Amino acid sequence: MTQALPPGLSETDHAAIETIRRLAANTLAPAAAETDETASFPAAQLQALAGLGALGMNLPERWGGPGLSAMALAACVEAIAGACGATASALTAHFLATDAILIGGDDPLRARYLPAAASGETLGAFALTEPRAGSNPADMRCAAKRTANGYRLSGVKHFISNGAMADFITVFAITDPAAAHKGISAFVVDKNTPGLVAGLPEKTMGLKGGHVFELSFDCEIPAENRIGTEGSGFRTAMKVLDNGRVEVASMCLGIAQAALDAALGWVRQRQIGGQALGEYQGIQWMLADMATQLQAARLLTQDAAAKRAQGMRFSLEASMAKLFASEAAGKVADLALQIHGGYGFTRDMPLERHVRDLRIMRIYEGSSEVQRNIIARHLLV
Ligand SMILES: Cc1cc2nc3c(=O)[nH]c(=O)nc-3n(C[C@H](O)[C@H](O)[C@H](O)COP(=O)(O)OP(=O)(O)OC[C@H]3O[C@@H](n4cnc5c(N)ncnc54)[C@H](O)[C@@H]3O)c2cc1C
Repeated sequence: MTQALPPGLSETDHAAIETIRRLAANTLAPAAAETDETASFPAAQLQALAGLGALGMNLPERWGGPGLSAMALAACVEAIAGACGATASALTAHFLATDAILIGGDDPLRARYLPAAASGETLGAFALTEPRAGSNPADMRCAAKRTANGYRLSGVKHFISNGAMADFITVFAITDPAAAHKGISAFVVDKNTPGLVAGLPEKTMGLKGGHVFELSFDCEIPAENRIGTEGSGFRTAMKVLDNGRVEVASMCLGIAQAALDAALGWVRQRQIGGQALGEYQGIQWMLADMATQLQAARLLTQDAAAKRAQGMRFSLEASMAKLFASEAAGKVADLALQIHGGYGFTRDMPLERHVRDLRIMRIYEGSSEVQRNIIARHLLV
């Protein structure tokens, strides 16, 4: 079902959403099952998106983006995820990488990386998580020590989406161990930097095309690849994650809407006891709850996106949107599978893929527990 758009979108926004929806339906959706089945990285899908300028959708025109509003960006991510969750996850990981440079970097660094990333010439990855530091990234061990020409970066990051495919990686490391999170700085590491080694892709439950890797670093990094000032890395990462959480919420909406749409189609055609399944009140109530949960998640997501578009602080709204949308989407997809009965459990139908793809949404970019901590902190100031 085509989703109504929020008010206040420009003509450029509407045109971009329309174009992305068309590509999602015609190119991404038909390839989604095979991408999952073969666990193959969606390189061709990202290239198709790049052809529309979509790899820079999060960037302003000055740096090669189309100048979309945050609401339009959310609607585009929703459409892409509704067609193929793995493609949306790889794309939004690229957005995290470029957001870090946009938010934390200076103009020379932006000029070096952002236009190429916006055009799809290069792909980015965002490396914050470490084996011992996920929910609390301030516990990181990855270190960057000053050398004559820059920094010696050493340490391990893991679960890094796009890691081995990326042309550049934004990496967070400690430059001042005594300053706790204020001693974390961010860097851009180029793909061919000696001492950067990627492991094999992790075997994941869902988003199988959205490959994640362990990356180890023992690298010399030029000083001009530092993003912003020393010690500003943690603040940059948190701002990037505010954006990322609205994108995760949008992915949840897209995948859950696809599951609801499938359920609506199924209950019209499936006959049980001489009538269509959709004529049973028990099923109707399930559908009503699913649509209501989804609409509530969409409004929270649009609220966070609108505040982002207005340049307001939106950490609280981003956490609420991510928390609610990821939990609601999981329930919606599970009910959609239930409505399909045994057919929903088979791999001939997309329901089990939607359920698997959605599971990570409650974990990455801050788990549900971490979102609740953030929301409670805002309440208790
Ligand atoms: C498919 C995938 C893609 C990813 N992509 C990226 C990426 O591109 N870049 C990147 O940097 N990272 C990425 N990650 C990492 C992801 O962000 C982390 O897995 C996530 O932040 C959780 O960290 P953790 O796995 O170390 O879990 P832990 O931090 O060990 O958490 C374990 C459990 O404890 C709970 N918990 C933690 N702290 C608290 C608390 N204070 N109160 C209550 N409960 C708590 C958590 O909610 C969770 O349920 C990815 C992960 C996956 C699986």
